[in-house]
Amino acid sequence: MQGRKALIRRAGEKARAASNIMKGMAVATDPGRNLCLWLKKRQNPLFVSVEIETTSICNRKCLYCPNSVAERPAGNIPDELFTKIIDELAEMNYSGRLSPHLYGEPLVDKRIVRFIAYARERLPGAFIKLFTNGDLLTFELLNELDAAGVDVFRVSQHDKQADSRLIDILQRYTGIAGKHKVEYMKYFDNDENLMNRGGLIAVRHDVNMKFCTYVSGITIDFEGNMLLCCQDYLAKHKLGNLKDENIMDVWNKDSYKSLRDRIESGMWLTALCRVCNGRESGNGGNNSSAGQ
Ligand code: SF4
Ligand code: SF4
Repeated sequence: MQGRKALIRRAGEKARAASNIMKGMAVATDPGRNLCLWLKKRQNPLFVSVEIETTSICNRKCLYCPNSVAERPAGNIPDELFTKIIDELAEMNYSGRLSPHLYGEPLVDKRIVRFIAYARERLPGAFIKLFTNGDLLTFELLNELDAAGVDVFRVSQHDKQADSRLIDILQRYTGIAGKHKVEYMKYFDNDENLMNRGGLIAVRHDVNMKFCTYVSGITIDFEGNMLLCCQDYLAKHKLGNLKDENIMDVWNKDSYKSLRDRIESGMWLTALCRVCNGRESGNGGNNSSAGQ
């Protein structure tokens, strides 16, 4: 059953990726899919996405990213902690989305190919989606990551002009691997999709959302903290730490369950939620963290 669900999810992701590839436009939020995710979440208490920050370091400081306005510690997840997390996910046959990022650029981490390969081996049913700004991407690295097990690359453009070097690489790669392998997202003039990152970033649009499904995924920073959601740049809401706790023990804490239920019902209990505009999209199954 888990395998069938994973196949359906992967087919959906791939269809969306194919339609968005290289359009040079933003990938639109899909309200129908968000509603499905929310309904699914109501029936199935397991999380639908996992983001693991392997490094907190990014080579950029985009204006619409908290990396440009606030400091947080620089560091990499210890090897053994990454392995522990993947092993725990393997024990539960996790088959949702897995993405190795939060507010760092995954390709800064030289272990990334090895990490992807390990995750692929242990989580054959997971949908591995790698978000990157593409600055460090080469044709060779793209193919290495593909061979290691990435299902889809989400490559974001953060400059006004597209990087012709990067576009060439992506076109060569998709010519071989297929257009479904890359989603290209232009952030630079994409104000409508920008989030305020828990109030740290000024954005033009406001919100009036009835519920938020971001809590249907789990977010793990490079220090092993399980956070409320990917908007928690400053790690204000730590639900547990995976250095000495297990994912399911944290996920099943009464206090965490109650918080999730209330947030999903539109009760903005935390200071972070009250100023957040991320809840607008209700996009918990496919949220990108740092606008990667
Ligand atoms: S938006 Fe992405 S590329 Fe830009 S600073 Fe943030 S993490 Fe780095
Ligand atoms: S409302 Fe914002 S801060 Fe609160 S859980 Fe949703 S996305 Fe996170």
